[in-house]
Amino acid sequence: MLRGRREKRVDAGQGGSDPRIHRARVTAVTRVGKAMVRVSLGGPDMADYPTTDVGDEWVRVFFPDAPTEPVRLPRVEGTGWVYADGVEASEMRTYTIRDWRPGEVDVDFVVHGTGVATTWATTVEVGGEVGLTEPVAVYRRAQDATHQVLLCDEPGLPAALRICEDAPAGMTSTLVCEVRDAGYEVAPRRGEVECVWLPGGGNGVGPSRLPEALSDLDIPQDAAVWVGTETRVSRTLRRQLREEKGLARTAATTMGYWVHDKERWIAAYDALGEEFADKVRDLYDSDRDPDEVTDLVDSLYETNGL
Ligand SMILES: Cc1cc2nc3c(=O)[nH]c(=O)nc-3n(C[C@H](O)[C@H](O)[C@H](O)COP(=O)(O)OP(=O)(O)OC[C@H]3O[C@@H](n4cnc5c(N)ncnc54)[C@H](O)[C@@H]3O)c2cc1C
Repeated sequence: MLRGRREKRVDAGQGGSDPRIHRARVTAVTRVGKAMVRVSLGGPDMADYPTTDVGDEWVRVFFPDAPTEPVRLPRVEGTGWVYADGVEASEMRTYTIRDWRPGEVDVDFVVHGTGVATTWATTVEVGGEVGLTEPVAVYRRAQDATHQVLLCDEPGLPAALRICEDAPAGMTSTLVCEVRDAGYEVAPRRGEVECVWLPGGGNGVGPSRLPEALSDLDIPQDAAVWVGTETRVSRTLRRQLREEKGLARTAATTMGYWVHDKERWIAAYDALGEEFADKVRDLYDSDRDPDEVTDLVDSLYETNGL
């Protein structure tokens, strides 16, 4: 989801047919477990806020400069967003709609040190505001799948939980999640789910334990698989699913959710220059199959040390 430098005109993101941005007001702030802040967002401009009904639907969140200030929102132009001349672009991050109710949604923010989003979530109060794009779903599950396997770290957990909780009757789920430490687990509220918690790995505290856990896992060939983890970890798992587990490309949805040491990653990306950035952009803008694009971008990143 990191596609290069921030620009005045911003790509509205894949798949969003209607890129309307909603001004959302904070209606409640609650703590979920040790590491999450749940922010409920509603208000008049959210009355018609849609849902895809897919558990990993994601949105771009636009943040104000301070939690008590109004947020500056761009206007929508074609498939992009444009700020008026002289107006500075707002900081923006990607989050999952953890729960959807008519006119109101919940977003679960992992608390993790410093960052625009984590700082906002830990200081905002009822009445604060953000901008929200309309949701885009990623998870594709075969109609006839009766079992699903979800592999995630803390930022992927809100989506993984919603996918498990919303599973159709008769479907079983295995959720494998790595957390910073014991006590950071958040259990699903419903569904037939086997939870495997891996404390002490990934999440910026140590090497990921997910590749090893995946090696040990029995995955039936007709299971659906979903991955939402740190970007380099998700690349490894994606390859493992194909090469080690022999899963068809279409059986797994894998997505990089965040980048460990993002500042260093961005500096390395920028150092590769405009020609490299154009190559990446051209791939994302091409008509190729999205899975193929992911493979090509992954290999471009890997060969360039990203
Ligand atoms: C499709 C999608 C859905 C997502 N859904 C959620 C969600 O529901 N909940 C959620 O919490 N996150 C979610 N994320 C991840 C979230 O967008 C990133 O973690 C984001 O970088 C957080 O922004 P920030 O402003 O707090 O930190 P940033 O300003 O982006 O980063 C500051 C520093 O913190 C580090 N960092 C960022 N996130 C973490 C983390 N989780 N743990 C440790 N270090 C970190 C960065 O490497 C950087 O060094 C999602 C991402 C995607 C792509």
